[in-house]
Amino acid sequence: MCIFCDIIEGKVPSTKRYEDDKFIIIDDISHRAKKHYLIIPKAHYSTFAEQTEEQAIDLGLMLNRFSRFDKILGLEEGYRMMINQGENAGQSVEHVHVHILGGEKLPVAP
Ligand code: 5GP
Ligand code: ZN
Repeated sequence: MCIFCDIIEGKVPSTKRYEDDKFIIIDDISHRAKKHYLIIPKAHYSTFAEQTEEQAIDLGLMLNRFSRFDKILGLEEGYRMMINQGENAGQSVEHVHVHILGGEKLPVAP
């Protein structure tokens, strides 16, 4: 369906940091901070407009659980969660995902 679906299915290699039945966390291929991870739901949906309520609950729980991964992933000093939606935001992969940026002091976001 898309590059992230191929990664989830193991057709495209990735550096996987976490996996459960509903999510994977991988390194972004092109780091925009010292640490740059992607939280990717295994369900393919392009935008929040397509997200079901159940998928919204799953993502909310995943973000809550992520707070326990900070030490393992080198994010003890804080991190930024970021989601691009649509063309104006520069969304390049149409499979909702959360960017996690950290490992250094980040510039102020626009
Ligand atoms: P977006 O621009 O849609 O918010 O984010 C897509 C992200 O996916 C980009 O930061 C890009 O570097 C990353 N990306 C695109 N293709 C691949 C890939 O094949 N492997 C990994 N690990 N990341 C990818
Ligand atoms: Zn997909």
